Amino acid sequence: MDFWEELWKKEEEFFDSGSKEFRHETSFVSVSSIAEQYYCEYKLENEFALGEVPTEAKETGTALHAELMPTERITREEFAEMVGRKEPTLGVLDVWGNAGGLKVMGEPDHIIWSEGRPLWVIELKTTAGDPNPLWEDQENQVRIYGLLLDRMGFDCSRMRLAVVRVRAEELGEEEKRDWILKITKALMGGGVLALEAKHRGMMKVHLLEHDVGRAETAVRSKAGYWLKDREPIASASVGKCRACEYNSVCVKSLVRAS
Ligand code: SF4
Repeated sequence: MDFWEELWKKEEEFFDSGSKEFRHETSFVSVSSIAEQYYCEYKLENEFALGEVPTEAKETGTALHAELMPTERITREEFAEMVGRKEPTLGVLDVWGNAGGLKVMGEPDHIIWSEGRPLWVIELKTTAGDPNPLWEDQENQVRIYGLLLDRMGFDCSRMRLAVVRVRAEELGEEEKRDWILKITKALMGGGVLALEAKHRGMMKVHLLEHDVGRAETAVRSKAGYWLKDREPIASASVGKCRACEYNSVCVKSLVRAS
């Protein structure tokens, strides 16, 4: 059995193994949920209890995301053929695996491949504010994607991680259209500083080394919530509560909407 056939078989077995064993009767924990825990675990509680609350910022972010990193669905066989080429190709797949006592799954924004190896895992974060800080949730999200790719059996020895933060609403139409290709070129050709200089103040590419130990710790430190070993921990930041869409209903909110 070749690598891909074995991977797809293991993937089926993994997803067939779901048994609603985690908090809120979830079978699999998404990487984005773990990232959200770094913001505030009560947001997850509220999401499960009240459902997701649409906000203008989320809707704008989703639309910009689709514009900057468009994807097209292809078959598994086409994917395997495409990412197996020597010249770098862009392709994204579901990532999954066991980590920190959890069954974790997710979908990175983009991955640059060559000869079946992931070279870069890219996470795009749109913002209306300063793109220079890298928040803990954003860092850990991309780290965990890297960990899962490693667990799936890919050769990650040359893989690096990038979180691209951008004030996307300020980009022109042409820049949006070419965005992912520009990022790819900059990452592959060492042109990140030049790209940042061109878009000074509007974007920042945060580069990280793939580190299995740090990623595993990132999951493990949040796993107790899903394993029901402990109760959720609320944010202690007034600023986070102020920006939170649940602040008018959350029992742990540090602010009250007037
Ligand atoms: S209001 Fe504050 S404590 Fe409640 S979910 Fe939002 S960030 Fe967390």
